[in-house]
Amino acid sequence: MFPEIIDPRDKMHEECGVFGIYAPGSAVAELTYYGLFALQHRGQESAGIAVSDGETITNEKGMGLVAEVFRDTSRLEKLQGHLAVGHVRYSTTGESLLMNAQPLLVRYRQGQLAIVLNGNLVNGRRLRRQLEATGSIFQATTDSEVIAHLIARSGEEEITAAVKNALAYLQGAYAYILMTPDQLIGIRDPYGIRPLALGKTGNGYILASETCAFDIVGAEFVREIEPGEMVIIDEHGVHSTRFAHSTKQALCIFEFIYFARPDSDLNGRNVHMVRKRFGRRVAQEHPVEADLVTGVPDSSLSAASGVAEQLGLPYEMGFVKNRYIGRTFIQPSQEIRALGVRIKLNPVRRIVEGKRVVLVDDSIVRGTTSMRIIKMLRDAGATAVHMLITSPPIIAPCYYGIDTSSADQLIAARLTIEEIREQIGADSLGFLSEEGMLDCMDLPRDSFCTACLNHCYPVKPEDCLAAQ
Ligand code: SF4
Repeated sequence: MFPEIIDPRDKMHEECGVFGIYAPGSAVAELTYYGLFALQHRGQESAGIAVSDGETITNEKGMGLVAEVFRDTSRLEKLQGHLAVGHVRYSTTGESLLMNAQPLLVRYRQGQLAIVLNGNLVNGRRLRRQLEATGSIFQATTDSEVIAHLIARSGEEEITAAVKNALAYLQGAYAYILMTPDQLIGIRDPYGIRPLALGKTGNGYILASETCAFDIVGAEFVREIEPGEMVIIDEHGVHSTRFAHSTKQALCIFEFIYFARPDSDLNGRNVHMVRKRFGRRVAQEHPVEADLVTGVPDSSLSAASGVAEQLGLPYEMGFVKNRYIGRTFIQPSQEIRALGVRIKLNPVRRIVEGKRVVLVDDSIVRGTTSMRIIKMLRDAGATAVHMLITSPPIIAPCYYGIDTSSADQLIAARLTIEEIREQIGADSLGFLSEEGMLDCMDLPRDSFCTACLNHCYPVKPEDCLAAQ
């Protein structure tokens, strides 16, 4: 995509962001638009909103950023009602196609149903094969359609019972929001791997992947949906029921390391403050002598401030990132690339020239971006580049909706730390230890999924692989 500096394959990518609102008397389509705007970092490939007026659900979706999909304001104006669901998508399962954009809107014998999903079913393909073998027809390649068919096939008349029936078949990491013409239903997987929170507006309730979506629409955080919990929101308020009794929680630790926005809170912890603690801890574990600290924008800036504090060094803006690159951006030609065009990230030469720089990043996936950024700093005159990573090495694939599907893509699964240092061209390289990371969380150590760091999968990969 962007040939210079930032390799988009060199980051873990969250699959999606979900948003739902029940608020009679409010412009719910507009509020959903702003909620999705706050969740844009969780997916940039497609966006969509479905709204119900109590009888009929209307759906609008398209490819691109939220602001691009709803640039034509008549699309939002069509969405009249008092409850809505919205979705931003980064594709992992299922190609990047409009048919895979969500909300998925289906009609079954009980009426219309809109579905948005963040996550991945580890047995999604097997369920799909079984459903196809018994007559189901699928239009898209996402896991949202699987739950739609399971609900439609349930013999239950009442939606809550039909959904519970369907959930009994699902394995994996998921946060669903379903919408009937008059109810919202929020669901979080039995381990709580994917986040989902409940908020309150003056006249209703909101469900969202992250609390930053509450702030943008002036809603208050109420609580997180618990692992294995289903909440139903309608004219009677919020009702909670359990579809699975969890023995432990395993929230994805990468929500704190990289995915979530710094102004969001998860598990009662503010993401920025946790990242800052990660920064302090990695600097304690790997002290270095240098002149300044800088972070790779934007996700590493909180951690870089913690590193600077710990090392007693100035925290500087070593790079400027251009944030205005949309889907319609013209890709540079071969000739322009040869000039070394730096579209997305540019070092501030006056800051790094002649300096020993501590470069902070949140993770290393393939190593290509680190290599390019270090070279860029050296070209700008840095005399040394010491790299600190505020996560442990990623050594194993994620089966829960994050797009590191095979170990051979992961530099830390193939090389030792010294070999990685050599390959990326750093003067020194330090990763945050797993123990240090979990100390910073100040919660029971088994409250998190850390499988891509240590192979301890809450849903065993054998099950995942066998299930496919
Ligand atoms: S394997 Fe890693 S990326 Fe995937 S859910 Fe667990 S911690 Fe998150």
